[in-house]
Amino acid sequence: MRKQLLTLTASLALFTACGGGQKETPVQADKFDYTVEQFADLQILRYRVPGFEELTLQQKQLVYYLTEAALQGRDILFDQNGKYNLVIRRTLEAVYTGYQGDKTTPDFKAMEVYLKRVWFSNGIHHHYGSEKFVPGFTPEFFRQAIESVDASTLPLAEGQTVAQLCEEIFPVIFNPKVMPKRVNQADGEDLVLTSACNYYDGVTQKEAEDFYAAMKDPKDETPISYGLNSRLVKENGKIQEKVWKVGGLYGQALEKIVYWLEKAETVAENPEQKAVIAKLIAYYRTGDLKTFDEYAILWVKDLNSRVDFVNGFTENYGDPLGMKASWESLVNFKDLEATRRTEIISSNAQWFEDHSPVDKQFKKEQVKGVSAKVITAAILAGDLYPSTAIGINLPNANWIRAHYGSKSVTIGNITDAYNKAAHGNGFNEEFVYSSEELARIDQYADLTDELHTDLHECLGHGSGKMAPGADPDGLKAYGSTIEEARADLFGLYYVADPKLVELGLLPDGEAYKAQYYTYLMNGLMTQLVRIEPGNQIEEAHMRNRSLIAHWVYEKGKADNVVELAKKNGKTYVKVNDYERVRILFGELLAEIQRVKSTSDLEAARRLVEDYGVKVDPVLHAEVLERYKKLNLAPYKGFVNPRYEAVTDAQGNITDVKVSYNEGYAEQMLRYSRDYATLPSRNN
Ligand code: ZN
Repeated sequence: MRKQLLTLTASLALFTACGGGQKETPVQADKFDYTVEQFADLQILRYRVPGFEELTLQQKQLVYYLTEAALQGRDILFDQNGKYNLVIRRTLEAVYTGYQGDKTTPDFKAMEVYLKRVWFSNGIHHHYGSEKFVPGFTPEFFRQAIESVDASTLPLAEGQTVAQLCEEIFPVIFNPKVMPKRVNQADGEDLVLTSACNYYDGVTQKEAEDFYAAMKDPKDETPISYGLNSRLVKENGKIQEKVWKVGGLYGQALEKIVYWLEKAETVAENPEQKAVIAKLIAYYRTGDLKTFDEYAILWVKDLNSRVDFVNGFTENYGDPLGMKASWESLVNFKDLEATRRTEIISSNAQWFEDHSPVDKQFKKEQVKGVSAKVITAAILAGDLYPSTAIGINLPNANWIRAHYGSKSVTIGNITDAYNKAAHGNGFNEEFVYSSEELARIDQYADLTDELHTDLHECLGHGSGKMAPGADPDGLKAYGSTIEEARADLFGLYYVADPKLVELGLLPDGEAYKAQYYTYLMNGLMTQLVRIEPGNQIEEAHMRNRSLIAHWVYEKGKADNVVELAKKNGKTYVKVNDYERVRILFGELLAEIQRVKSTSDLEAARRLVEDYGVKVDPVLHAEVLERYKKLNLAPYKGFVNPRYEAVTDAQGNITDVKVSYNEGYAEQMLRYSRDYATLPSRNN
């Protein structure tokens, strides 16, 4: 499972989902440039790998080998996302690099954007919405461009002419009726036949469902993940799986992955980690899903290694039937400093529980904090590249999770890059009331926001207890909004507590104001940029933020604690009394905990309906108008750092250097050249 941006706290989720632009940063803490470029609805960012230099040589070697293993799988995902993706990508690349005509015409420029989008999506469909891209260039232009380049650079099938290549791919690119969606979820249609993803070939939805239903034993308490690592095909009337393994489908790429995993095995940090890598290799060699489960169990139990990784067929979001997994890889190492932060918080869990403003009868006598592991990503690959999650929770098999637990991690340097890139993108400059708040946000908001997330995740959800006899599901449809509000309020109340300064988690008593301001600004105004005109707020996290912000605004109205101030005809949030805001957060926390503990459905309904759902249409229109002018890209992805092994005369690796200066197209073309592991057509 992946943790997406939406599940984060208000300000971060908003900044990261809405950041972008190329403007100068007013206050720049460091010179690293987090932004790369922007096109279509995408912004490309860059992330840093702090702490890499401090790893031991052996750990660096391990990271290096694992990053190579990660990059070798790139072509697999392209083919999984659609059977023509590799042919189309390679044709576009041949024209992009080899075209001798005018590269400044609108047609060529539009083709360039199209190719950049194909790279980003690992195919011709949108990475998020899954709809097919509409090319901005003509078939006539593209045909003459293809004909003009050196034919040996084109992905021609054996005996295929250039004209036949065009016939093969033009309908797929230009005809909107051909393969319109990568994953179709429309109820009532044959989801397998109408989805362009390449997980099934020649079979209907019913045939696929029947095939797997016949395999399953309902009494099996440790079932394998049926269908996870294969394409289901009908050949000569017979339905069968083509398994992704060495010697099977995608074998050429998996062989290369295994080659680098074998090198990684020689520099594993400890026997447990070595066993993890060995088992993964065995799985890639056999395609046996029992072996995959054994690997997953070894992996989840390996908690002492500094370096860790995901490499394999993992998430099933790309299959309309939710069985087949896209290939992905993430190489990472533990962020000791940030993990220490969550450990401090969770080891003080009882103190926080005891001192909260919640009524004593709803507090836990014994509370245990959860310590979240924060990791630093070293490379993103496959389905985590360029667009990535900010956290992951694996393995996915329910019985393994129940018996052996799971690893839940937050990717600290990715979150940090989103934050840093959002600095100076014009968003805060547009919506924040004055330079005083702006300066405070620049100085503290990244830190306080992380801390708020930690408090929310490590303590908030685990705090409090149900009253005897209360129904834990009694809040029905309001349950998740109330639960998120409870966790958010716990974090908001404590982010202003002197205890955090005392524990060394915050530098001073000013910092919390950055979090209070951005939270209220988001809840009262700026999160509305995600709502279509005329709609109300539906999503639980957004309702929760609106609820908290509007409740505090209303309750403090008589004393003007928080106001919606006007300046030059624009509306701004202005906080006049931060200490009172904290008191109000505490009062609401106590009430929300009471509602939760006693399962007071009517009170939950009133809170959510009165404060969490409604949108002021005039303010909404103003916010949308101001946001539109900022011209920010809604989706983001990353270029990877580049790793280079330094070797001695005997070829031994003596160091690994990391650099960050590669451009987007440059990196994509390098990957296409150096990691071309699969043929253009994989049957
Ligand atoms: Zn939560």
